[in-house]
Amino acid sequence: MNYLPIFIDIKQKPCLVVGGGAIAYRKINLLLKAYAQVTCIAKSSCKNVAKLVNDKKIIYIERSIEPSDVNGQVLIISATNNATLNKKVSELANQNNIPVNVIDSPDLCTFIMPSIVDRSPILIAISSAGKAPVLVRIIRAKLESTLPHAYGKLAELAGNFRDQVKAKFSKIEDKRYFWEKVFSGIIAEKVFSGKIQEAKADLQAQLNNTVEAQVGAVYLVGGGPGDPDLLTFRALRLMQQADVVLYDRLVSDRVMELVRRDAQLIYVGKECDNHTVPQGDINQLLVDLAKKGRRVCRLKGGDPFIFGRGGEEIETLAENGIPFQVVPGITAASGCSTYSGIPLTHRDYSQSCRFVTGHLKDGSMNLPWHELAIEQQTIVFYMALNSVEYLSRQLILHNMRPDMPVALVEKGTTPEQKVYTTTLKELPHLVENETIHAPTLIIIGEVVKLREKLNWFDAKPMI
Ligand code: SAH
Repeated sequence: MNYLPIFIDIKQKPCLVVGGGAIAYRKINLLLKAYAQVTCIAKSSCKNVAKLVNDKKIIYIERSIEPSDVNGQVLIISATNNATLNKKVSELANQNNIPVNVIDSPDLCTFIMPSIVDRSPILIAISSAGKAPVLVRIIRAKLESTLPHAYGKLAELAGNFRDQVKAKFSKIEDKRYFWEKVFSGIIAEKVFSGKIQEAKADLQAQLNNTVEAQVGAVYLVGGGPGDPDLLTFRALRLMQQADVVLYDRLVSDRVMELVRRDAQLIYVGKECDNHTVPQGDINQLLVDLAKKGRRVCRLKGGDPFIFGRGGEEIETLAENGIPFQVVPGITAASGCSTYSGIPLTHRDYSQSCRFVTGHLKDGSMNLPWHELAIEQQTIVFYMALNSVEYLSRQLILHNMRPDMPVALVEKGTTPEQKVYTTTLKELPHLVENETIHAPTLIIIGEVVKLREKLNWFDAKPMI
């Protein structure tokens, strides 16, 4: 270990920053976050530092540093681009045994500043002792993406209950077991989804032993259109936490690879009209599993609230008093349009965009065709592969141009993605003559023409 990691309490203590530029500003801000009393000495200051002075957040001395300036300081940072000045600051600090950090000059430092992941009161400090700052940045990004932002709130909550828990459990293992359950269970999830009061009540109930039969929870998670990189942080976390995962055909294999290894997987199908498990049974299954205390992830393709029947599933959960949360996902329209180079809106071609289901009920689509067949609008049809003939006819009947550009995006965002372009009139022939597989999304509008120009995805594969 080249350095000893420590956390210093500098609340209300005098700290000195030499330099008034952008880097000095960043360091000043950090010190202020830790409630230090900051003095900045510099011959000139940038706009941001000037604002801090104006707001009376720091003391500013507009001149060069003098030896007496370091008296009484508990910490000194030199952030100037003048090597001689930096050296002088370092020497002054050393003569007075005050810890000093000089930006980009490890030899002049008696302490270094780590990269920080801030979930106050939880703080993670990362350092490579100056050997690999880029690697440190990568590690930090990884931690930032996997640690829920509300960890701080969870730690605060735990702090408020610390004495009660200490009083209740005499054995240290019992105490540890209690906290492990809190930090990796439903109480933590409630904090992460903003339900702090509920989490507090649950924690109190656990301590009072007034918890009735342990109820689990259901996470209705949007798994996005296929590419696992498009999952949200929260989706990934819940997928890795769940005891049971209910998934359907739209969830890609690569997304499924990311669920917890030992989770029980239940396939509930859904292939257009061929529902492997009827919707009512899925709703009931979610309730039954949660009542047994399981944490259930209901994983859906795209976004659960966009043609996903997510609303129906949570209705049943609410009726049965099952705790649940819904995690949005990238819907097929977003994923397919970006991965095929077709912006859904564009100042020159389209000012609005409609998401429409093309699912035929009783052989017809009950849609406001006159509202769809208007200029300067993009229409995105979900579940419409079997109804192209009908929709093409209706739109033309309602005065849409027969040569309006159309794109079909098959298995969008996956390695098997295929994009077909045609016109509204030719659309039924294309579907008849090509073997196009579900899931396929249909985009209709002038914006489809932009694909040739903007198709970065096909043009530059990122592998
Ligand atoms: N909740 C989902 C949509 C479910 S409806 C979402 O928000 O994306 C199912 C329809 O979505 C399919 O018939 C197809 O039209 C479209 N779809 C879903 N994933 C797709 C994908 N990867 N590529 C193309 N279309 C997709």
